[in-house]
Amino acid sequence: MILSPILSLPMDVDWTTRACDWAVLVAFALSSTGLEGIPKSCTITRTATGKWFVSISCDIGENDKKPNAGSAVGIDVGLNSFAVTSDGEKIENQRFFRKEEKALAKAQRKWDAVKKSSKTDPTREKRRKVTGRVHERISNKRHNFAHQESRKMVNRHDFIAVEKLDVQKMQKNRRLAKSIADVAWSLFRHCLKYKAEEAGIGFKAVKPEYTSQDCSACGHREKKTLSDRVHHCKACGYKTDRDHNAAINILTLGLQRQAD
Ligand SMILES: [Zn+2]
Repeated sequence: MILSPILSLPMDVDWTTRACDWAVLVAFALSSTGLEGIPKSCTITRTATGKWFVSISCDIGENDKKPNAGSAVGIDVGLNSFAVTSDGEKIENQRFFRKEEKALAKAQRKWDAVKKSSKTDPTREKRRKVTGRVHERISNKRHNFAHQESRKMVNRHDFIAVEKLDVQKMQKNRRLAKSIADVAWSLFRHCLKYKAEEAGIGFKAVKPEYTSQDCSACGHREKKTLSDRVHHCKACGYKTDRDHNAAINILTLGLQRQAD
């Protein structure tokens, strides 16, 4: 077994007394997870709230997944839902976006009130940890969500097209729940990209311009406002959900770019 440890070490711990803890952590991780392939590297991290994580990278050799021939999908960020596909499937927004928004605002408010007090104040330390834990929980849930949803997409399709990220548009979102969802979206997109590469299927990110305005049936272009939730083409009469129409356009653009 090849195991070359790459350690990510927090600075505030006496590492000489921790050596045995690492060994226990690695041994536990190796025995408790169903490892596939040959372990290549091991990373040990400690979060701001003092939790320890061991992550082990394994070489699983060539991927022998058979792509679903002909199954291509376009994915659009939904206005109401998290994402909508060109097949008309919706990935709903997670309830934790809203729930954690409230928890974070509350913890942050309490932390702000004591932030400038003495570092030896036990309340200050307690509230700092609570805020850190909420951030950590959001990050964990978001990772799980992004990994699970992207895995489903990659398993089901052999070509995936998404929008290029509009970072400026994302930064304008003041609402916390929306910003949690936005970060989840960029993570989802990132997971899709590397999982698609790993599985050897096609992946394209296309410019999002006009994808919501153009009719996916006839190409007629007409402006929409944010409140127009339905695409109803005046030229050909095609009617569908606004995000579904955009997802079909994203797929068409992605396939065109793939062919270029
Ligand atoms: Zn049309």
